[in-house]
Amino acid sequence: MKKNKILIIGGGLAGLGCALELSKQGELDFLVLAKDIGGRAPDSSKVPPRATFYARTEYRNLYPFLKLGRKANVWKGRLVGKDKIWKPIKICLRHPLASLRFYFHVRKFNKHYERFALRSETVTQKQAFEEDAFILKLYTQSAIDYLRENNLTILQEELVGTLVRVTGFLRIQEANAFLMLWIWLNLVKNGQECTVNFNKLTESFSDKILTEEVSSVENLGNRWQVKVDSGEIYESEILVVATPINISQKLLSVQLAEFNVVKVYSVTVKGKVREKYSSGRYNVLPAQENDVVVVKNDDSTFIFCSTQPNYDLTRYFEEFEIIETRNWDPAGFFGKSLIDSKQDNNLYVIGDYHFPGLEAAFVTGIQTARSILSNRA
Ligand SMILES: Cc1cc2nc3c(=O)[nH]c(=O)nc-3n(C[C@H](O)[C@H](O)[C@H](O)COP(=O)(O)OP(=O)(O)OC[C@H]3O[C@@H](n4cnc5c(N)ncnc54)[C@H](O)[C@@H]3O)c2cc1C
Repeated sequence: MKKNKILIIGGGLAGLGCALELSKQGELDFLVLAKDIGGRAPDSSKVPPRATFYARTEYRNLYPFLKLGRKANVWKGRLVGKDKIWKPIKICLRHPLASLRFYFHVRKFNKHYERFALRSETVTQKQAFEEDAFILKLYTQSAIDYLRENNLTILQEELVGTLVRVTGFLRIQEANAFLMLWIWLNLVKNGQECTVNFNKLTESFSDKILTEEVSSVENLGNRWQVKVDSGEIYESEILVVATPINISQKLLSVQLAEFNVVKVYSVTVKGKVREKYSSGRYNVLPAQENDVVVVKNDDSTFIFCSTQPNYDLTRYFEEFEIIETRNWDPAGFFGKSLIDSKQDNNLYVIGDYHFPGLEAAFVTGIQTARSILSNRA
């Protein structure tokens, strides 16, 4: 049996954010047990830069570890329907006043979100939500109700819902108002394609990472016992569970909250795209369909994403060769409940369960490390 003060389960940005902050602050009695390094985030050393991950200028903690690619621009998208093709700018020009009002809504949200994001570095994400009545209301309100309440329904399907679909992989009917506006921050912040340099991120604590799959977790009163697939047992005083929330709940045998799971099936192909999808970088498919987007890369490959596994590539490509497939299950979560990352018995449950995001997940880890260190002081 191996003993450490702190065990971290999960090597995604949440778990690694926690490990990095602990080691930065001189707390070295910890161990990361993870099935892989990086989790759902794109690894710059493994994946050739692909167009499915974007960082925005607000990603300040993660910034030193990002490898940035092309600039992302909402206006470069084309919505490719059955019979017609729309450009986002044309939709805005059709509804100029509603579009302008929506823009000011996003700016207002941005002000609150910036405060919330900064606050999340010091207090739990749940507390940061609860400290801002505006942000909290958005989290518990559906996107549809928000648009209705603010007389913006006219933008719901074609414009607002489309970006929610292509960025969050869910339909606007499923999103809360917080997630919808968070996605639309792209209007006021610059985004860029990105991958994460995990070698650099883990440099200072690489000897404290074990590639292991955890099979069970048990609380023994004043300590935690963690069993991994190879049969080894680890013990700690403090446990940080940084796996996707459906796995965390299973490992801990608790139901902390209800979340719906988003699944994404993506494939990188080389080949000849059909005429309809040949111009522009982002060919966004109608929000009512299961297929989501066809993205053109600079190296003449394409990324295709769907929310169903049984997609038909011949609809989009005349000829193609599959280079890589990636199934994301889970890709993300959506719900309306808030979980306190700091639980009883020296247990922390962290990750991107409130909303997806590379920086936000990373910050849940950083904040947890700070909380652990301040409790021990
Ligand atoms: C297709 C897609 C596109 C995205 N695009 C963007 C984007 O453009 N911009 C953005 O900001 N965010 C984006 N996201 C969201 C972002 O990737 C996630 O929010 C973030 O990476 C989640 O980090 P995490 O640490 O919470 O979870 P994860 O990255 O899932 O990490 C969980 C870790 O737990 C480990 N694990 C699981 N089970 C076990 C077990 N039993 N034992 C041990 N270890 C275990 C995993 O191996 C992994 O290391 C996207 C996500 C997807 C799927």
